[in-house]
Amino acid sequence: MIVVMSVTASAREISDVIGRIRSMGYDIHLSEGKERTIIGVIGRGRPLDRDQLALLPGVQDVVPVSHPYKIASREYHPDDTVIPLNGIQLGGKDLAIIAGPCSVENREQIIETAHAVREAGATALRGGAFKPRTSPYAFQGLGEEGLKYLAEAREATGLPIVTEVMEPALVPLVCQYADVLQIGTRNMQNYALLHAVGESQHPVLLKRGMSSTIEELLMAAEYILSHGNMRVMLCERGIRTFETYTRNTFDVNAIPVLKHISHLPVMADPSHAVGKWEYVESVSLAAIAAGADGLILEVHMDPEHAESDGRQSLKPERFARLVEKVKQMAPIIGRQVVSPAPVQE
Ligand code: PEP
Ligand code: MN
Repeated sequence: MIVVMSVTASAREISDVIGRIRSMGYDIHLSEGKERTIIGVIGRGRPLDRDQLALLPGVQDVVPVSHPYKIASREYHPDDTVIPLNGIQLGGKDLAIIAGPCSVENREQIIETAHAVREAGATALRGGAFKPRTSPYAFQGLGEEGLKYLAEAREATGLPIVTEVMEPALVPLVCQYADVLQIGTRNMQNYALLHAVGESQHPVLLKRGMSSTIEELLMAAEYILSHGNMRVMLCERGIRTFETYTRNTFDVNAIPVLKHISHLPVMADPSHAVGKWEYVESVSLAAIAAGADGLILEVHMDPEHAESDGRQSLKPERFARLVEKVKQMAPIIGRQVVSPAPVQE
C-alpha cells in the first residue's frame, strides 16, 4: 500500500507516519514529488489498518497497490522519473540516442565509431566489453581492456558510456568505467545481479527478458529500486514469438503500457528486436511515435566484418539519416533531440 501525504503535511507529520509504519515491521520507501510526499509500504509486517493510518495527521489517502511492483508504479511516483545523462534529461522532454557497436573489438574501432556517432548526433556511446553470447565459442568481448577503450572514447568525444555487466562480482569494476550499467535480456531475472546493481547506485539500463512479460520486467526493476537506486531505465528490445523472419518481435505495445503504469524512462532497442539493419529505421520511428524516451542502436563502421551482430548494425551514414528523421519527428510529439555539449579541447 502507499500513503499519500497532503500537500500541506509537515516534516514532523511525515516522520510520524513513517515511524508508525516501521513500528509494524515494514520498510518504507519515500517519494518526494514536486507537490507531495508519497510513502511506499514495503516488506512483510503485522497487519496494518488502512483506516487508522488514514486518520493520522497529514495523511490525505491510503491506497492499496494491487500489482506486485510498487516503487516502479505510477501510483507511487506520479511524476516521470528524469535521469540526467550528459546534459540531457532522460525521461523528460529530451530524446536520448545511444549508439555504437555491439562489441568493443579494438581501440581504433571504438574511438572511430564514437566520433562517427557523435558527429551524427548520438547522445551516448554503447559497446559491450563483456558479451553474453549464445555460443561459448563466439567472441566473448575484451573484458577490462574493452572498458578502458570505452573510457578513452568518452574522453575523446564527451559521450557517456553504456555497457553491459554480466555478474555481480564485476559490478564495481564496470562502475569505474561506465556511466550506465546495461543488464542484458538474458540476465533480466538474475536476481543476484539486480541486487548488486541496485546497491551500486549507478544508473541502469534494464533490458526486457526475451520471454518476459511487462510485469516481470517491472518486478526486475523493483529489485534495483528497492535498494534506493532510482536511476533505472527500462528497455524494450523485442520478445520471442512464433515469427522467425525477424530476430525477435518488437513489442511496440510495451512502450505506452510501461509509460502508463510506471514512471521510469522507457528506451527502445530496435536493433536486437528486428535483427536486420534494413528494418531498424522504421521500428525506431515507430518506437519514438509510441512514446519511447530514446533509442539504443547498433552502429558499426564495417558491419560485414563485425565480431557480433553485424547483420543488424547500421553504418554511420544510415544512422545519421535516422537521427535526422527522429529530429524532424520530435517536435510533432513534443520532444526534442539535444546535441551533446562540445568536447573541451
Ligand atoms: C547487446 O546490447 O548487444 C545485447 C546483447 O543485447 P540483449 O541483451 O538485448 O540481447
Ligand atoms: Mn548486440
